[in-house]
Amino acid sequence: MLQSVPKTVKGTRDLLPELAEKFRFIETTASHAAELYGFREIQTPILEPTGLFVRGLGDTSDIVSKEMYRFTDAGGDDLVLRPEGTAGVARAFINEGLSQHVPLKLYYRGPMFRRERPQRGRFRQFGQFGVELLGVEKPQADVEVLACAQRILKSLGVMGTITLHLNTLGDTESRAEYRKQLTTYLEQFRASLSKESQERLDKNPLRILDSKSPEDQKIVEDAPKLESCLTESAKNFFSEVKQGLARLGIKYVVDDRLVRGLDYYCHTVFEFTTTALGAQSAVLAGGRYDGLIKDLGGPATPGVGWAFGVDRLAELLPAREAENPMVALVPLGPEAETAALTMAEELRTAGLRVETGYSGNLAKRMKRADKIGARLAIIMGSEELQKGVVSVKDLKDGSQGEVPLQNLAATLKLKLKSAWTVA
Ligand code: ATP
Ligand code: MG
Repeated sequence: MLQSVPKTVKGTRDLLPELAEKFRFIETTASHAAELYGFREIQTPILEPTGLFVRGLGDTSDIVSKEMYRFTDAGGDDLVLRPEGTAGVARAFINEGLSQHVPLKLYYRGPMFRRERPQRGRFRQFGQFGVELLGVEKPQADVEVLACAQRILKSLGVMGTITLHLNTLGDTESRAEYRKQLTTYLEQFRASLSKESQERLDKNPLRILDSKSPEDQKIVEDAPKLESCLTESAKNFFSEVKQGLARLGIKYVVDDRLVRGLDYYCHTVFEFTTTALGAQSAVLAGGRYDGLIKDLGGPATPGVGWAFGVDRLAELLPAREAENPMVALVPLGPEAETAALTMAEELRTAGLRVETGYSGNLAKRMKRADKIGARLAIIMGSEELQKGVVSVKDLKDGSQGEVPLQNLAATLKLKLKSAWTVA
């Protein structure tokens, strides 16, 4: 019987070195920036109990209602491959008794899983990096996490096509009043709403505001605005967030349709969106979730945070030159081959990236050096070696010259450094 070759699961992909390196660069840049604000890394399991998300995200969220990878394991436990990071951090906060340590600043990174329709920038396994600031109810916290987000996007060089959209959902009181007004308004159009929105009308009418369906959008255009239902204190909170951003020179657009998909948000919600990725425009999103930890059974603790999609940022990332370009050793003849073995190790000890072609003549090895993107080729003939020199060829500009074996590593480093600054 012919067996077909196993393939990746739909919506998942192999990150080949070029992309895996972009992922790592993005995560490292983000971690460094987050650490400047005092965030520290937390790692929570990828497998979580289903109840965590049902209770935390609410069963009307897209994630819980249709996107979770949920299964019963051989022992009968109801489990989920985590679809997002905030609920897990909140669970850890409760389980590990971290409430004594507030204000607490944590960041996380790693794969998330959602069973949605795969397309450009939308996968079933994707990378996220996120921060959570727990235990601070002041708007200063919202401003700080937004400043951190923008700093990361700037250091990655992707802010060019990106805009920050901001909104407030108000406090519990504002939302209850708005829900009443919105429901009354939408009830008149119940029959014309999309099927999905008709269901949401009973469970979570606010979600209809960000419906993608054109018939819903038309109805929503004339809907009452949440702004008119904001309590004084909710209004003040939002003003303080906006003032803080203005003070830091962070530009934003207020978007009163922005409600975000998850039930746990209150007050500030935001999205950094790009015009460069088609329909998958949100690169970083988040907001305040003062009720989440209490809803999960923990001590009432305010929180604010965000997550960005690593896959989407990787697609936006400008091309970068290798920071430590490869050096190729090209030994000619058996004696040089033996010398190359130890030389390669010595150069690596000095911090250089070195490849020795494993076989072949000069032409074949030079071709290989080119293929692996080497910046320098060290051509080692046995006569030259006896003289105590090697021939170093710059593969970018084609120049070539003899370099003494003594201090070879230092000379190469200098050469690579000047090449790097000039480039
Ligand atoms: P979208 O509106 O694009 O579905 P979302 O509101 O579901 O986004 P969040 O849950 O806020 O997204 O996740 C934060 C970020 O994670 C998003 O802004 C996006 O960059 C990224 N992200 C979300 N879902 C996916 C996915 N399926 N594939 C790749 N990245 C994703
Ligand atoms: Mg989504």
